[in-house]
Amino acid sequence: MKCCNHTTIDAVAACKSCGRGLCSECADVYDIPTCPKCFAKQKEQELCECKDNISNTCQDMKYGSMRALLSIVWHGIFLSWGLLILFNALYHGKVVNGDVIGNIMMAWGFGGLPWAFSTILKRDDSIEAQVRRATETAGEGCVGLVFKLFFGIVIGAVASPILFIYNIYKYSTCKKKTLEAKVQLDNMS
Ligand SMILES: [Zn+2]
Ligand SMILES: [Zn+2]
Repeated sequence: MKCCNHTTIDAVAACKSCGRGLCSECADVYDIPTCPKCFAKQKEQELCECKDNISNTCQDMKYGSMRALLSIVWHGIFLSWGLLILFNALYHGKVVNGDVIGNIMMAWGFGGLPWAFSTILKRDDSIEAQVRRATETAGEGCVGLVFKLFFGIVIGAVASPILFIYNIYKYSTCKKKTLEAKVQLDNMS
């Protein structure tokens, strides 16, 4: 067998991909003996994979920023509601007492309730499991639910403002990363 690049020189090795002959000089070009054609093919494939990865990241970041935006709007509504209660009390010259603070916490708590339930209070929460638990222990289930609701509102009230701010940060980082990925893709093509 002759070298595929130098047709007059005897081959001492074979391309690991296609098996064509390579002379000693050609066999030493890459760590693994590879002919130029196969090397180019490999490079192209790597570039494709790289592009795929970046466009996947781009997609993930797009979804991430969408979720963050939804969260900002959701928590924004309940935070505004709470602030409205506060400003209303101040506007009418009322003392900001426990009642007013309680109402604000209630408003924020409703905003944070979905988060509280889905993260802190989540247990075996398939619908079937919930129904089974509730019917097995009807009384206990009710008390448990009321307790969970109360607890959810309390931690939700604390979590809601934090989530609002956190998601603003997340939205901006996702947007930034989406743009970076787009620039990378543009540069590659
Ligand atoms: Zn080859
Ligand atoms: Zn050669």
